[in-house]
Order: sequence, then structure tokens, then C-alpha cells
Amino acid sequence: MTTLFTATVLGSPRIGRNRELKKVVEAYWAGRADAAALAAVGADLRRQTWTDLRDAGLDSIPVNTFSYYDQVLDTAVLLGALPDRVAGIDDDLDRYFAAARGTDSVTPLEMTKWFDTNYHYLVPEITPSTSFALDASKVLGELGEALELGIAARPVIVGPVTFLLLSKAVGSEAPLLDRIDELVPLYADLLTQLHDAGAEWVQIDEPALVADRTPEEIATAKRVYDQLSAVETRPAILLASYFGSLGDALPAIASTGVEGIAVDLVAGSDTLAAVPELTRKHVVAGVVDGRNIWRTDLENALTTLGTLLGSTGSLAVSTSCSLLHVPYTLQAEKNVDKALRSWLAFGTEKVREVVTLATALTEGRETVDEEFALARAAASTRTTDPRLRDNAIRARLETILASDPGRSPADQRRPAQAALELPLLPTTTIGSYPQTTAIRVARAALRKGEIDDAEYLIRMRAEIADVVALQEELGLDVLVHGEPERNDMVQYFAEQLDGFFATENGWVQSYGSRCVRPPILYGDVRRPNPMTVSWITYAQSLTQRPVKGMLTGPVTILAWSFVRDDQPLADSANQVALAIRDETVDLQGAGIRIVQVDEPALRELLPLRAAEQTAYLDWSVGAFRLATSGVADSTQIHTHLCYSEFGEVIDAIANLDADVTSIEAARSHMEVLGDLNAVGFDLGVGPGVYDIHSPRVPSVEEIAASLKEALEAVPAERLWVNPDCGLKTRSPVEVEASLRNLVDAAKLVRAGL
Ligand code: GLN
Ligand code: ZN
Repeated sequence: MTTLFTATVLGSPRIGRNRELKKVVEAYWAGRADAAALAAVGADLRRQTWTDLRDAGLDSIPVNTFSYYDQVLDTAVLLGALPDRVAGIDDDLDRYFAAARGTDSVTPLEMTKWFDTNYHYLVPEITPSTSFALDASKVLGELGEALELGIAARPVIVGPVTFLLLSKAVGSEAPLLDRIDELVPLYADLLTQLHDAGAEWVQIDEPALVADRTPEEIATAKRVYDQLSAVETRPAILLASYFGSLGDALPAIASTGVEGIAVDLVAGSDTLAAVPELTRKHVVAGVVDGRNIWRTDLENALTTLGTLLGSTGSLAVSTSCSLLHVPYTLQAEKNVDKALRSWLAFGTEKVREVVTLATALTEGRETVDEEFALARAAASTRTTDPRLRDNAIRARLETILASDPGRSPADQRRPAQAALELPLLPTTTIGSYPQTTAIRVARAALRKGEIDDAEYLIRMRAEIADVVALQEELGLDVLVHGEPERNDMVQYFAEQLDGFFATENGWVQSYGSRCVRPPILYGDVRRPNPMTVSWITYAQSLTQRPVKGMLTGPVTILAWSFVRDDQPLADSANQVALAIRDETVDLQGAGIRIVQVDEPALRELLPLRAAEQTAYLDWSVGAFRLATSGVADSTQIHTHLCYSEFGEVIDAIANLDADVTSIEAARSHMEVLGDLNAVGFDLGVGPGVYDIHSPRVPSVEEIAASLKEALEAVPAERLWVNPDCGLKTRSPVEVEASLRNLVDAAKLVRAGL
């Protein structure tokens, strides 16, 4: 008889409460820690995580959610699907990290966003000659460690359907899902090995099933789980979905022999009662939001759970997805005011909510009355707190939304901007310059109180002066101040806007060893003071050439924050847009003639289901336009986009109506220009002419060749010359050499026009 657990989570954070994993992994890369030290920290973190979850009261605990870099890369290792180019590296760990990060001679796997989260996974490459082979050592190792500790361990693996749908086919046009029959026997073998090693349950993650899938893909998934559930010796299978509704995939997988199904009842809205097969399944109900940081409305969640009792075989309470996406614990935050604290729940607090709900279900609500009372009290102050409703801001927003005519048509703006007197093929950069040691030292010193604001200002101004002088010397046409004062392009603004809270220790993994601290948007947004004007005007005071003001757009600010769940995202976007709009107007008033509003995350928030995409694009484009339509025709608005394929948002990019759009293009051979033409885009465009992600300095010829390629798609009057993205991660030496070549290439191509 399989144990029917009652309380679990689908996965947990793994970087360590104090980013221990980041520190040791980076030390290993730098040669300051050896493999044994790395292994020891990993083992410690796992033990700590599992025992914490057990002590908190979970009765089934996910294992194999630990990773030195990424769980999809781990799955590629599990299935023998690392690319050939790393096969020659003997050491297992070095081969693994080479696939993740590259070496001098090996390019890494591509990285892309994990569904609509801010986590990035490595994209496995599958070629016709990839011959899959099982290597279960990692998952068996972690299972063994956990069982040894007496943990009710449930190994977690990425499922075969999701693995293939997320991988990239190299050297073949055929859909990778056609290769599924090569994987099923490996998973079958794995199931038996896990069973023999003592696993009672296995969690197989198939989040790809919550996106739009064709009937054929759904039929394939059904067939796979028919086959896997027919394996004779195996653990019970929990098929886990998250990040949305399963839709048509739900009845399909419910009709297979898997014992359990995890459904996301926060992001998704599946009607479980409509699927009779679920009355024979163990349903793991994701009622505690695994992706956002708000305290759960326990009353509401318990009601949801109550309605499920009749339509499921048995029921467990869970988070909606892995807790990978939220910080470890609220206890690490010292500076949260009492009210805000009471509204929040990070990882540990969410686990407690799961346990509370499970206890309420199994032992009756009265046994956890106190927890319910606390949640209720928090919910009530969250509706009355004045910071959540600033009527003056709301009224002003309404007025502008109702009366703002938007910008004049582009052909009226163009002559108004002629006073900028820019040459053909104007050269510029995306905003940031290298974050030098001097900058980091100054920031740390300010934080520790070793220097005061005045000294910090002096040091940052020195950086700005250097960057401006460099750009003048190089002969760039539109200058930037270099963003030395910004730790992060979202946090910088969040720290200055009312309505946002910046955590002290709220780290979440973004990719590999990279962690971010998303700010929390909890209230109405107000801009108490200008945020960038003094820095930009200082830079402008040093040069005759135009300096671009540099702002982050409303969509990106939301995409990289934890957002309010008590109002539509569109409303929050407009409030942020209003603050950015006020900043553009202030910059203009201070004599700045070009303002760039970055929206690198425009594509990121695109909903997984096509049916929801139009509404998203409407409000996101609307927010950008609100942010940028307060200025005169003579002020040139730039925007910048990167990090993605733009196919699905190409119309939206055109609709942003920015005078100039700089866009990542170097790695995709300017393809985006043809796509923009196809939607009638006829504004300024700066396709990145070299890839800033690589330390390589591009030659003049190479950049000139890119420009000529671009000129086949775009007339010279509209073409700008710039790198792919900001330069903050590059070294000063690389930047100077690359930009020198960029300016020379522009001159060369200009001369030939
Ligand atoms: N202006 C920002 C920079 O240059 C843009 C960064 C980005 O696109 N992510 O750093
Ligand atoms: Zn960028």
C-alpha cells in the first residue's frame, strides 16, 4: 500500500539561506575551492533543506531538486544528452560546468527563461546522433542520502515530454517530440531503479503541459504515461504540473495509470470536478502560491480544498510550484514594518501554511484556529492600510488616461527632433558601462557607513566624467552617463518609489550562481522625488553632445519584482508608468533631449496561453506609451529590448512607437529587422551589431559587415549603430576596443553610402 501523504511542496530553494551555494560554486570556478569542498556544501544544504521541511511537518519531501547549476541541465546529464563538444572533458563536474558556462574553447548551451518565471534554464541540444543513455547517479545519490536520514523522500525529475519540448533540435527540422520513444525505456528503467532504492513516490514534472499544446502532443503525453504507469516495479507516480491550467491535458493524463496529479490552483483554473477519473487519483492541490510572496488567504484555500474532496480520490496540500522562486524566509528581513510583514510569506512561511491547511483538513479547522486568525487579521489590515490606496495618485492617473492624446504621429516628431543634428547611422550605447572595482568599493563603503552621501556622490560623478570623456574621445554621437549609481536597473527605481519594498536578504536564483533580490510592490506607486535627473544633467553638463536619460520601463519593473495580487497587473503597470512619465518630463525640463525607456522584459511576461496574450500586449504597450507620451515632439524617445526571440511580440514592439528601438540582433543575424518590416515598422532602429555577452572584441570589418547586412533591410535614415545590450558586465579594456571599432565601422559604412 502506498502512503498517501497530506502535506508537501513541489520543490525548494537550493542556493542556501546565505547564498552558500553561490559562494562555493564561484570559488570552485575560480580554483579557490576543490570538488570535495563543493560536495560538502551541497550535502549540507540538502540535509538542512530536508530536515527543515520534515520538522515543519511535511510528510513527503522532494529530493533531487538540488542542483549545482540547473535542473534541466541535470536532466540532460540523466539522459546522456550533453552536447558532443563537451564529451572530451573527462572530469564529470568540469564537463557539467563547461556545458553550463562554456570554456575558452567550448561554447555553452543557450540559456532561456523557465516558462514565465525569472528563472533561466539551459537548453539541451539534441542532434540526430544524440544517443540517449541513463545515468541515474545523481538522483539515486540524493535519494540514498535522504533515506539514510529517515526522510520520506520523493525524488523529482523533469518528465520526458517537457524535456523534449524545452530542448533545441540541432541538425534536424523534425519535432523533438518524435524522439519520445527513445526516452520512455530510460524513464521506465529509472522508475525501477528508484523503486529498488526505496522510493515510494516519484514526482515527474511536466509543466510543458500547461502551455498551449496540440491534440497530438497531448496524445503523446497520454501514451507516455500509459507506458510508464504500466512498468511493473516502480514507485507511485505523481505527475506534477505548475504555472497554469492543464486544460485538455488534464483528462488525458488522468486517464492514465499514474497515481497522483499535482495541479496549480493559483495560476491555473482547472475544474477538477469535470474530470471523473480524478476520483481515483491522489490529487496534490497547489493552493499556496509558490511564486509570489503574499500570505495565503487560508480561509479561501480551505474552501477550495473542501470543494475538491468530493472530486478526488485523496487530497494533499501543496504549493502551486517549487519554492525555488521565492526567498528562503521572512525571518531574514529585519526592516519590514509590522503591517507589511504580516502580509508576507516567503519559503518557510509557505511551508507552514501548507502544513496548517493539511492539518485543518485532516484534524479539523479548530486545531489550527490560531493560524487562521492571524491570516484573517493580516488580510483585514491589507485592505485598510492607506499605503495601498493613494486616492490622489489614482485620480491623477484616471485623468491622464482619459485625456492624454498620446504622442503626435512619427512624421511630425521627426522634424521636431532634427535639431539634435545627428549624422546618418548615429552611434550610441545601451546605457551601462563597466561596473568597475571603484564603483563596487564605493557602493559597499556607503552601505557600511564608511563614506557619506557626499563622498559617494563625488565618486560616482568621477565615474560619470570618465565615461563621458571616453565617449567623446571615441567619437560616439549620443552619449550616456554609464549608470554607475545603479546596482540593478529595477531595484534602483524600486528603492526610490513609494509602494515598493526592497528586501535585505530576499535572494532568489536567476540562473546558475546568479541570484537576484526582486523588490516587492505592495502599495500604490508614488514618486516622491526625481530619480535620475541630477545624474543625467551632471553628465550633460560635461559635453555638447546629447546625453540620453536612462529609465527602466513599467513592464520590466513589474517583471522583475514581486507584484501585488490585490489588483490587476495592468493597474500596477499604469501606476509605475505614471512615475516614469513624470521622470521623462522632468528630464526634458532639465534640458535632456533624448530619453531611453528600457523594456528588456516585454517578452518575458507574455502569458503561456495564446488566448491571454492579446490582453497582456494591450496593457503592456499601453503602459509604455503612457510612460513616454508626456514629452514634447522634440524629445526623442528610445527603447531597448533584449534577452529573447521577438517573434510573438513584434507587433507590440512596433506599437511602442518609440522614435528609436535598440534591439538584440547580433546572435540572430539581424533577422529581427525583416520581422519589423513585415509589420510596417518605420521608426529608428539600432540592431545590436555585436554580442556583448562574449569577451571577444569584434573587428571593424565584422561590425561593418553587420551594418551592411542591416542596411539591406533598413534605409540609412532609420539605422542606428549600437551594441546588443548594456556594457556593465564587460571589462573597460574590452569596451574601449569594441566601441572604437564600432565607431570606425560606422564611419566606414557612412562613407560608402
Ligand atoms: N540600460 C540598461 C543597461 O545598459 C539596459 C540593460 C538591459 O537591457 N537588461 O545596462
Ligand atoms: Zn539589453
